[in-house]
Amino acid sequence: MNGHVGCSVIVYYHGQLIHSEGYRLNDEASVYQAELSGLTLALRFVQSILHWDSVRVYTDSLSLLTALAAAHTTDPAIWRLKDTLRAIKQHRVISLHWVKAHEGTEGNEMADIVAKQATTKDSTDLVLLRPFNHINSVLKAELVRQWQDRWILTLNGRTTAEFFPQVSLQPHLYNRRIMQILTGHGRFPSYFCRFSIMDHDQCECGQRGDVFHYLRTCPRTGDLRSQLVFDPMYPPSLFEHTANIPILDLIVLRQASGLQALVGRLLAVWSVPLAVLALGSSIVHSPHPFLPMSSLTKTGGEDPVMYVIGRQAQ
Ligand SMILES: [Zn+2]
Repeated sequence: MNGHVGCSVIVYYHGQLIHSEGYRLNDEASVYQAELSGLTLALRFVQSILHWDSVRVYTDSLSLLTALAAAHTTDPAIWRLKDTLRAIKQHRVISLHWVKAHEGTEGNEMADIVAKQATTKDSTDLVLLRPFNHINSVLKAELVRQWQDRWILTLNGRTTAEFFPQVSLQPHLYNRRIMQILTGHGRFPSYFCRFSIMDHDQCECGQRGDVFHYLRTCPRTGDLRSQLVFDPMYPPSLFEHTANIPILDLIVLRQASGLQALVGRLLAVWSVPLAVLALGSSIVHSPHPFLPMSSLTKTGGEDPVMYVIGRQAQ
């Protein structure tokens, strides 16, 4: 409802709710960070109650428990939690358990309510460092914005800009003939003339032979052009329909065949470099040594039971 993030800790003792606390976090915090904060608060509470010899902590965050169970982590917050758990275990018994969310478990439902109530606070209680994926998305958005500004102002790549006026991190993969259309750097009289490979820039039909000539007016490619689905006055529409791609391929082949006799000796070495921006990410899957799932005794039993939760209110 409000997009805010909150976490909570509630504590049962001999089946009775004895304590609850909910915190609103900064909006950039992830749900995982909220769950992690909830557990941190729970352990802090445990440390403040020295006479509890045995404590069970429940969370519905499988990812948090998995991170704690893993032998390796690069997250300093997980290491801090491990250190705190180790310190508590020197004198007491503490165990972490997973409880399935939204299954009606009383403690989990209560923690959910408290966390959601915390998200409605007017101000934040805790401000966490922004998660890496948030920083990543902000930097990417800024990168694209600056790239777009340069793309509008630069004098280079204007043929490509006709087809792709908006920059994007989404890679477009086309074969070398389609790249000739996209860049204008291909077997076109205008391009050959520009580099003194031909002494004129005219198509066989007598008009200037650049890429847009073959896409809009040349009678030699008219039959193929009629099969294209696009607005001739809006070149980006040409690449909005994948069915156009093989037709464009044939257009380049046909107009190039007319030039082959004139510049055949150069065609063998002709190529258009294809640059592909690929954004890669590596995901390391750790093995899944998981903590034993306890018999859920809800709020009963002699031991204190804590439920920890992190939520983002949708
Ligand atoms: Zn022509």
